[in-house]
Amino acid sequence: MISAEELDAALKTGDPIQTAMTGWRWWELSDGWLRSPFQHPHAERLSSAALERSFIWPRREFRPICPRNGEHVPPVADCTCGVYFSPRPYDIFWAAEKARELDMDYAGQGFRPDSPLVVGLLEFKPPIYVYLDRFNQFGWEGRAAGATIKRLFISDAILPPAHARPEDKWRAQSLLGLLKTRYRVPITAGRPEGVELFRGTMGSGKRWAP
Ligand SMILES: [Zn+2]
Repeated sequence: MISAEELDAALKTGDPIQTAMTGWRWWELSDGWLRSPFQHPHAERLSSAALERSFIWPRREFRPICPRNGEHVPPVADCTCGVYFSPRPYDIFWAAEKARELDMDYAGQGFRPDSPLVVGLLEFKPPIYVYLDRFNQFGWEGRAAGATIKRLFISDAILPPAHARPEDKWRAQSLLGLLKTRYRVPITAGRPEGVELFRGTMGSGKRWAP
């Protein structure tokens, strides 16, 4: 784990951190896959296979590709490539809620109103560039060489209500089973203990019962 001084120095100099870090990301659950709502800025240049790789996380480990330069091994200093994260879970829960409430689908593929949101705790591989967040959503964000999911938290939408039909309850259980097999990490319906969701007027937390 890096110290506050090391982090501060990396933010000032722009030099990458050479230590693995833990952080948070979010996805929409789409047909049993984790789908990132964020699109590469130059996605039109990618092949359809590469484009799919830039949205869908097929397994626990993720290696980003560069949308601009096929010779880049992300993250490259003066590029946008790499896998992004926030160090603060409540920022990610808040961003997921806000995007859904405002229907801000950055990938332009459309949210499905009833699809669950997923928040993950991950370990990020160095080198990691850190910088102050351009959109001022988070204090700082990281851009790393790769990521491994450690734990997933799924919004309440995955849980059928008590009065649901047996086949709907069975479908929800089989979806959870599929996710556990596919991503091989502990999965919790609801938010992590101790993570406060309320911030401003957005992100009511109604999808994330403790
Ligand atoms: Zn690049």
